[in-house]
Amino acid sequence: MSDQIWCEKNPEKYTAQKKRAVEAQRLWREQNPDKNAARRKRETELRHLKAVAVDPEFRCRKDRQRWAEQNQDKIKESKRKYQREYARRVRAKDPDYFRREYTKLKANPVKYAETQERIRVWRKAHPKKRTAQLRKYQREWQHVARMKNPESYHERDRRQYIKMKADPVKYAKTLARNRLQKKEHPEKAADHNARRRARAANVEHESVERLVVADRDGWKCRYCDVSLTKKTLTLDHVRPISKGGPHTYANIVAACQSCNFSKHDRGAPSRKTA
Ligand SMILES: [Zn+2]
Repeated sequence: MSDQIWCEKNPEKYTAQKKRAVEAQRLWREQNPDKNAARRKRETELRHLKAVAVDPEFRCRKDRQRWAEQNQDKIKESKRKYQREYARRVRAKDPDYFRREYTKLKANPVKYAETQERIRVWRKAHPKKRTAQLRKYQREWQHVARMKNPESYHERDRRQYIKMKADPVKYAKTLARNRLQKKEHPEKAADHNARRRARAANVEHESVERLVVADRDGWKCRYCDVSLTKKTLTLDHVRPISKGGPHTYANIVAACQSCNFSKHDRGAPSRKTA
């Protein structure tokens, strides 16, 4: 009769036997703590050797712990990278995922309060980052709102301008700020003025950045092919504003000063490059 059949035929005896064996092991461990520790160490080493034999790159838990303690920054950065990548993937798959999660979070008052507190602490610890975050939100949000309703925004801007101008202190401040900005970003000021002229001439207009046009046209005059710099660059309306041409990227090319001035409103000179 094999052992297995005996076990199946005498379940009570088998259980009692097993209990006795387990108890004996426990007793031995209790009476020989040193020997038991040595046995466990041997077994651990053996397991490690086996793992290395399978995978030479294998590192045991202690190695990993030591490495982690010495490379906190690396771990933090890789975690962040993973989180960003994960969020991007989730959003691509399911654009409403985070909104739903937020609704769920808000339904749980304890968790929501915890999260709010965590955010509050972070904001206090990183005031500069927080300001940048707010500015970015504001710009994006305003841009969307402006695109939706440009007229009412224009009205609002005008109202605010009139109010500002009535206050001499505020007006002086604004003028000083504008002067500084004009000095720091002359190309932006030029773009702004060009658009204002187009608006005054009552033609179609969009925000056109001269540096973008120059990049598009390879920093060369579209009429004579001469190389342009920030100083020599001018923008030319292919169909002049005086003849109803729009102030848009489609109607604007980079040109050198002489081509631009010789052209005036008489129509485009013959083009060398298409
Ligand atoms: Zn030219």
